Amino acid sequence: MVGSVSNTVEILEDRLFIDGRFIEAANQDRLAILSPIDGQVIGEVAFAGPQDVESAVEAAERAFVSWSSLSFKARAGFLDAIADHLDQRRNDLARLTARNNGKPLAQALMDVDDAVACYRYYASLAGLPGEEDVPGLEGGLVAHKDRLPLGPVALIVPWNFPLTTAAWKVAPALVAGCTVVLKVSEVTPFAELSLGSAAIAAGLPPGVLNILVGGPEAGERLVRDLRIAKISFTGSNRVGSSVMAAAAERAVPVTLELGGKSPIIVFDDVDPDWAAQIVAEGIFTNCGQVCSANSRLIVQEGIADALEERLVELARTMTIGDPLDPATTLGPLTSSAQYEKVIGFFDAARAEGLACLAGGDALGRPGYYVAPTIYGNVPVTSRLWREEIFGPVLVTRRFRTEAEGVALAADTPFGLGAVVLSGDIERAERVGRALRAGNVWVNTGQMVFPQGNWGGFGASGFGRELGLAAIEGFTGIRQIISASPRAGA
Ligand code: NAD
Repeated sequence: MVGSVSNTVEILEDRLFIDGRFIEAANQDRLAILSPIDGQVIGEVAFAGPQDVESAVEAAERAFVSWSSLSFKARAGFLDAIADHLDQRRNDLARLTARNNGKPLAQALMDVDDAVACYRYYASLAGLPGEEDVPGLEGGLVAHKDRLPLGPVALIVPWNFPLTTAAWKVAPALVAGCTVVLKVSEVTPFAELSLGSAAIAAGLPPGVLNILVGGPEAGERLVRDLRIAKISFTGSNRVGSSVMAAAAERAVPVTLELGGKSPIIVFDDVDPDWAAQIVAEGIFTNCGQVCSANSRLIVQEGIADALEERLVELARTMTIGDPLDPATTLGPLTSSAQYEKVIGFFDAARAEGLACLAGGDALGRPGYYVAPTIYGNVPVTSRLWREEIFGPVLVTRRFRTEAEGVALAADTPFGLGAVVLSGDIERAERVGRALRAGNVWVNTGQMVFPQGNWGGFGASGFGRELGLAAIEGFTGIRQIISASPRAGA
């Protein structure tokens, strides 16, 4: 029965983490957190108000001087210890994520592993990138470039990959020498609060990492705080714009990881069974709540019927249920707000008269469950073709020539991800290079590596996470130019 397995999951921590301690909110506010599995209260969590934002920023500012003065190697050592702690609690954290977020346990385990890998990657680096002597100076001058951490930073994350999205920001910020105020989503706070326990276990100095659970008010207050030297935001385009406006008022740098409407182009020279697996994984993982989800299938006419037939079969045979049941392959949407939003798109599809090949409705059971859904031959003017849905909803459209396929893929303001499948590798790579996206996957599903790259073009935002670029985003270059002194008499 839905909920029966999940009810055994233990909440590991439910308070704010400020200045090295878990504490209740200053005004004692607590927020009830609902389970996506049955809509019932899982537990309560401390809910940050203005005083808590103030305390967290103050702690981060106080800790900055000594943290940024540590050697890179010393900071990296703390990251390794954080990774150790998360790894030791892998199963508990995954169960908690599955319970709070609704994703199947196997996917929640991947989230923890990805977060651990991210902390380990940044811990493994030899030093900050781009610190080097400047060659070829004249007149006896020597110059050296190094990197300075920007200061206390605000990191704001959404609810779809809680531990992972936080790791992508926290790890490079800390290793760069910044101190952190992490504001986690009020929808899925529980797993990320365990980062506080990891910080304690790692012996991280108080104030270096602070974690707030809060809503828009706390987020807004945080990004407007004059002591915050950089903002890294992942979330919706609407909120991203307001964060950027706040950053603009005092000219602090901002990284924005926003929405997507990623295409997957499938040519008719591939095995339809193989292609169907990649398409389905790219749209149904995490119930479609993936910013880079390949939500627009652009399929060549010769394979379209065969591929759609297999996709419909895959959608119809998914095991929908309790995310903690190992057999489950599709869980519920994460929140009632997201559920209402996806239902709204089902209504829009009906109003537009779209051809529904699979799903197209809620599942009529407790919790936020909707059917994996496919609409065929969707016009490019449809809302479902143009807007990010953030649910298990695939829209498809057919093409004849390579140029038509590329033009359809490019028909979006977003530029986060794109997938190309073709038996002709030269063509697949040529098409991949024609696309404007932060990640283009050629003949593979959406693989992500900590040493790689994450970020978008256009409406998907700017700035980069993962790899060395993420560290660059939390630092600035200083150049020191020296000449020989002229000795006094
Ligand atoms: P959201 O924008 O509603 O919230 C994101 C975070 O911002 C939350 O922590 C929220 O509390 C906070 N927030 C809300 N109002 C704020 C304000 N006025 N000032 C400061 N902070 C504020 O997004 P969401 O619904 O949590 O997440 C879904 C969105 O995130 C989707 O659009 C998805 O595409 C995007 N996303 C993007 C990426 C990426 O890497 N590009 C990754 C994951 C999710």
